Amino acid sequence: MNNIQLLKDVLSKGRKKIVITSHHKPDADALGSSLALYHYFKKTGHDPVVISPTDYPGFLNWMPGQKSVINFEVKTALSKKLISEADLIFCMDMSSLERINDMGPLVKNSMAQKVLIDHHLEPENFAMYRLSDPEAAATAELVYDFIVKYMNDETNLTKEIAVLIYAGILTDTGSFKYPTTTKKTHRIVAHLMDFDIKHSTIHHFIYDNSTEIKTRFLGYILKEKITVLKKYNTAYIVITKEELKKYKSRTGDTEGFVNYALAIEGVILAAIIVDRGEIIKLSFRSRGEFPVNEFARDHFEGGGHKNAAGGKCPLTLDKTVEKFVGLLPEYREKLRLIF
Ligand code: 5GP
Ligand code: MN
Repeated sequence: MNNIQLLKDVLSKGRKKIVITSHHKPDADALGSSLALYHYFKKTGHDPVVISPTDYPGFLNWMPGQKSVINFEVKTALSKKLISEADLIFCMDMSSLERINDMGPLVKNSMAQKVLIDHHLEPENFAMYRLSDPEAAATAELVYDFIVKYMNDETNLTKEIAVLIYAGILTDTGSFKYPTTTKKTHRIVAHLMDFDIKHSTIHHFIYDNSTEIKTRFLGYILKEKITVLKKYNTAYIVITKEELKKYKSRTGDTEGFVNYALAIEGVILAAIIVDRGEIIKLSFRSRGEFPVNEFARDHFEGGGHKNAAGGKCPLTLDKTVEKFVGLLPEYREKLRLIF
């Protein structure tokens, strides 16, 4: 049950030490939501800090406040101290503690009261305070609700916060095109525009910032690496460790590649399978009713949303691809586009 409004009272009772975290390798929704809260809590007289379980993509290095973000993998001792001393820990854009890697047990065992703000299905039950809504297009939408509706504190919504919420919504709606985009999304964005945010600049920062080598990597993937299985309306991309190395791939560089596979005519299910060394990582996208979150959950220890999900596999890269392709026949009926 959502009971986030109870926090209004908690937050009104003195200065709180607040740790804000989100899923590993945060995207613009996860990091934008975290930093939006960071600014809000600073403005309202608390002591917030954002701890990311890992690094984040370089194309987010324009976000207001990002320089203050602590990378748990780099500053582990400091992070542990902050987690253990926190009064409140906000977990953003993540439905389970497994999504924050080694921080998971630390957060779980901390004496702090935990807060979940998230839009994934079936969230794990670890938080005392929850704002969980799978119908929200982005966690950033819920951050807007948190400030404006549940804290009833529109006066502390600043331009910086508006920019960060906009970036989160922009990303998780695929620039307002995914079916999750609602009139509520647009109403929130309209309000954010009242703050004179430069929306074109935000689009530019997020989408037009490829390095030369990343663009060439994309060219190579598009030309050589997309396999289309017409029979199953499926397209997938496989990336080896060597290819990541050759193209000096950094965090976030392969994000978006899978959308090119989904953009092929007739494709309903798209996947990208990447050998990350320690684990094989899979990302899925789908069109229409095919639920990739269930597919990821049932076969690849993962989850996510109906049309965008991910998971992992302990097998070798070749065996993972074999497993993925081998699963398709049992989904043949579902791999038809139904409007
Ligand atoms: P992406 O493919 O962009 O990494 O992730 C798409 C969606 O799937 C995101 O909402 C993300 O939270 C979810 N997701 C990706 N990987 C995993 C995973 O390993 N486990 C779970 N539970 N969700 C994932
Ligand atoms: Mn999200």
